[in-house]
Amino acid sequence: MGLLANNRLEPIPAQPNALGRHMDETKEPAAGDFPRTFAWGAACVSCKTVLPPLRDTASLFFENGSVPCPKCGNGVDVWEVTKNEIRTYFGTFIGLGGLGANQTVFMFDLAPGQIKSLDFTEQGVPPSAVVVSVVYTAQGSGCFPIEMHSNEARSRSYKPMASVYGASLGNNPGPVKIAVLVTWIDELEEPESWTMLADAFQAATDNRFSRVVVPAYSAFEVSVGRLIRELLLNVTSKESVEEFMVRDLSAASAVNVLVPFICRTLGVKDLPDDIRGRLTRLRRLRNKAVHEGLRDVDVNKNEIGELLCAAVFGFEFVRYTRKKLSEQRSA
Ligand SMILES: [Zn+2]
Repeated sequence: MGLLANNRLEPIPAQPNALGRHMDETKEPAAGDFPRTFAWGAACVSCKTVLPPLRDTASLFFENGSVPCPKCGNGVDVWEVTKNEIRTYFGTFIGLGGLGANQTVFMFDLAPGQIKSLDFTEQGVPPSAVVVSVVYTAQGSGCFPIEMHSNEARSRSYKPMASVYGASLGNNPGPVKIAVLVTWIDELEEPESWTMLADAFQAATDNRFSRVVVPAYSAFEVSVGRLIRELLLNVTSKESVEEFMVRDLSAASAVNVLVPFICRTLGVKDLPDDIRGRLTRLRRLRNKAVHEGLRDVDVNKNEIGELLCAAVFGFEFVRYTRKKLSEQRSA
């Protein structure tokens, strides 16, 4: 990944970088190769090599409890590593990347007084992406980009585009190259859940940690509901399934009774206890938020980071289970 070290975008280093880890060297693109889009996952505890993103390693992790490092071969407990890293980087674009958000880096030239429209889709960001963070880094002094807004100054854009104004900076104003790091997630896959995860990620980026709770748990809950609904529709009518899901099934029973039952029936390993425990805590906080209210002073940033991490792993666990289910059906 590109690094923002000393306030400049640095080329990918051959040695462990400022985050204390490095990419699998065989897959490293050449320095200065922009635009570049990438996603990454937990880092190996032994050699610090970064694993592929969670969406590509989750099945192996849930199956075996660890994922082999592509460099040294040691097993990486991606849950422990991601959970630990989120304590340091939660609320930043690095933390979001660790949870599975994609990142695109590109460069553009900007002169003082110039206005430029940036279309991130021309740089590799899909048109359907939800942008959760944009970081501009001037590659020198003389000019700095100011992102422009409409008459409503505080409304935030999630669209993959921006307009910037080149503000004159320093004693020698002049054109400079600007590096842009766009962090985004794509709604296309599991759109209902990802839209809610995008809201949770956005709340984290805004440092409004109490606002992470409701969308984070809802994202997981929607994916669980979809799994249960698909299975029940095989044995009973749509009306009966809807009545059961809406009137009879509690959120706790769905996760603590039906999901273990489904896993046992499919011969799939159940959700790891530590993740289930944190999802229970997240559900209780969600219930408090919607019934009594939840303020930022009521929550601990580190805990919310771990709970969002659990929601993402829970969401991936349901994806893994649905994949096993479709494999069994086609066998
Ligand atoms: Zn390793």
